[in-house]
Amino acid sequence: VTERLESLEQSESQTQDGERIFTLGNIEFPEEVQQCIKRGADGVGLYRTEFLYLGGNREPTEEDHYDAYTQVLKACGELPVVIRTLDIGADKVPARIRDRFAQSQNPMLGLRSIRLSLQGTPLFKVQLRAILRAAVHGNARIMFPLVSSLLEFRQAKMILMDVMEDLEDEGIAYCGDIPVGMMVEVPSAVILAEEFAREVDFFSIGTNDLIQYTLACDRSDPSVANLYRSGDPSILRMIQMVMKAAKKHDKPVTVCGQMSSDPRFVPLLLGLGLRQLSATPHALSRLKEVIRNISIPEAERIAAHALTLDLARDVEHYLLGELGRIC
Ligand code: PEP
Ligand code: MG
Repeated sequence: VTERLESLEQSESQTQDGERIFTLGNIEFPEEVQQCIKRGADGVGLYRTEFLYLGGNREPTEEDHYDAYTQVLKACGELPVVIRTLDIGADKVPARIRDRFAQSQNPMLGLRSIRLSLQGTPLFKVQLRAILRAAVHGNARIMFPLVSSLLEFRQAKMILMDVMEDLEDEGIAYCGDIPVGMMVEVPSAVILAEEFAREVDFFSIGTNDLIQYTLACDRSDPSVANLYRSGDPSILRMIQMVMKAAKKHDKPVTVCGQMSSDPRFVPLLLGLGLRQLSATPHALSRLKEVIRNISIPEAERIAAHALTLDLARDVEHYLLGELGRIC
């Protein structure tokens, strides 16, 4: 089995009826990029940048950011790299600043991710400067996490524009036409997906948080793990809504949460219209195998049936059965 899957690593993913599906990798540390490419990723679909803050005992400098991003971009060459801006808070809090978060009764609903970036503008600007500078070395995209309102997305973009102006004034080389997208991981962003789709260059659905916030179910609490289900009918509909809104405005969508690393969900996601996904690098070969053994009409039939089921366990059971039939 391992050999068969390894042979798939270097092949492009295409469905049986010839639809090209882009399979990208999620990374957290710059060193992981080599492994990601070796595993046959079509790029980095989610580069989590929290590591810069979670290790070490000092604030990372612009050069620290720049070096890390440059390393990944150079390793990827022409392949796209989606750099997600800081997503600290809640489950990702650096020990150094833990006091700042200690007061919150509900850290998952508190000051985290883009909210923190928008409050700490100088810090955010340091990261954006580094991304824009590093972006001249490859095919970079910027992605904002946990966006919950249009205002937040606009504010973040405005700060990005400010940073571009600063770099321009200082005569420093930067990429001025970098695509700017957002994670869809809060139900409000799904409900307003059409409005967002007009303004973003791309969406990436973060199912880890989207499931947590949709089902009001802490992703790290084992006592409610039985309620935290990717196959919940509400999650299927959330994804469907995002796909429809994005299609209407011709914007690409990726799914980058754990759900897209699970082969059971590949037929469903393709059937809902997904054409690119970003997964844990070691899962890619198995995902490619599923993609190569299914056609889009078959995936659409599976998605249509899954949408008629009203319990998470029925959806998951059905998808497991279909996967067994496919390969
Ligand atoms: C997600 O929420 O699905 C996601 C990909 O981001 P993270 O797991 O880093 O919160
Ligand atoms: Mg998330």
